[in-house]
Amino acid sequence: MSYNLSKFCTCTDLKCPLHPTNHDRGCSPCIASNLKDREIPSCFFNLADPDGTREEYHFEDFAEAVIKSGK
Ligand code: SF4
Repeated sequence: MSYNLSKFCTCTDLKCPLHPTNHDRGCSPCIASNLKDREIPSCFFNLADPDGTREEYHFEDFAEAVIKSGK
Protein backbone atom coordinates (compact mmCIF):
# COMPACT_ATOMS: atom_id res chain seq x y z
CA MET A 1 0.00 0.00 0.00
CA SER A 2 1.29 3.49 -0.78
CA TYR A 3 0.30 6.86 0.63
CA ASN A 4 0.62 10.03 -1.35
CA LEU A 5 2.27 12.38 1.13
CA SER A 6 2.73 15.02 -1.56
CA LYS A 7 -0.74 15.60 -2.95
CA PHE A 8 0.41 19.01 -4.20
CA CYS A 9 2.78 17.39 -6.70
CA THR A 10 2.12 18.61 -10.26
CA CYS A 11 4.49 16.17 -11.91
CA THR A 12 2.59 14.31 -14.65
CA ASP A 13 5.14 11.51 -15.08
CA LEU A 14 3.13 8.90 -13.23
CA LYS A 15 5.33 6.12 -14.60
CA CYS A 16 8.35 7.51 -12.79
CA PRO A 17 9.18 5.24 -9.83
CA LEU A 18 10.04 8.36 -7.82
CA HIS A 19 6.60 9.92 -8.30
CA PRO A 20 4.84 10.24 -4.91
CA THR A 21 1.91 8.11 -6.08
CA ASN A 22 4.27 5.15 -6.50
CA HIS A 23 5.60 4.86 -2.92
CA ASP A 24 5.02 6.18 0.59
CA ARG A 25 8.04 8.51 0.95
CA GLY A 26 6.57 11.73 -0.42
CA CYS A 27 9.01 14.04 -2.17
CA SER A 28 12.16 12.55 -0.68
CA PRO A 29 13.16 10.23 -3.56
CA CYS A 30 12.50 12.93 -6.14
CA ILE A 31 14.47 15.56 -4.24
CA ALA A 32 17.36 13.19 -3.61
CA SER A 33 17.59 12.36 -7.30
CA ASN A 34 17.39 16.01 -8.32
CA LEU A 35 20.09 17.02 -5.84
CA LYS A 36 22.39 14.26 -7.07
CA ASP A 37 21.99 15.37 -10.69
CA ARG A 38 21.93 19.14 -10.01
CA GLU A 39 18.37 19.34 -11.29
CA ILE A 40 15.17 21.14 -10.24
CA PRO A 41 11.97 19.11 -9.65
CA SER A 42 9.29 19.45 -12.31
CA CYS A 43 6.83 21.02 -9.83
CA PHE A 44 9.03 24.13 -9.77
CA PHE A 45 9.16 24.24 -13.58
CA ASN A 46 5.38 23.80 -13.74
CA LEU A 47 4.90 26.79 -11.46
CA ALA A 48 7.51 29.06 -13.02
CA ASP A 49 6.71 28.29 -16.66
CA PRO A 50 3.48 26.27 -16.94
CA ASP A 51 3.25 26.56 -20.72
CA GLY A 52 6.87 25.72 -21.39
CA THR A 53 8.18 22.55 -22.96
CA ARG A 54 11.36 21.05 -21.61
CA GLU A 55 13.86 18.39 -22.35
CA GLU A 56 16.25 19.09 -19.48
CA TYR A 57 15.79 19.91 -15.81
CA HIS A 58 19.20 21.24 -14.79
CA PHE A 59 19.66 24.39 -12.68
CA GLU A 60 20.53 26.34 -15.82
CA ASP A 61 17.36 25.17 -17.61
CA PHE A 62 15.28 26.35 -14.66
CA ALA A 63 16.97 29.74 -14.68
CA GLU A 64 16.19 30.06 -18.40
CA ALA A 65 12.56 29.02 -17.82
CA VAL A 66 12.12 31.70 -15.14
CA ILE A 67 13.65 34.39 -17.32
CA LYS A 68 11.63 33.27 -20.37
CA SER A 69 8.35 33.32 -18.45
CA GLY A 70 8.96 36.97 -17.55
CA LYS A 71 7.46 36.57 -14.09
S1 SF4 B 1 9.64 17.61 -5.40
FE1 SF4 B 1 9.19 16.03 -6.91
S2 SF4 B 1 7.74 14.67 -5.89
FE2 SF4 B 1 7.79 16.56 -4.73
S3 SF4 B 1 6.13 17.83 -5.53
FE3 SF4 B 1 7.98 18.36 -6.69
S4 SF4 B 1 8.00 17.05 -8.50
FE4 SF4 B 1 6.54 16.19 -7.03
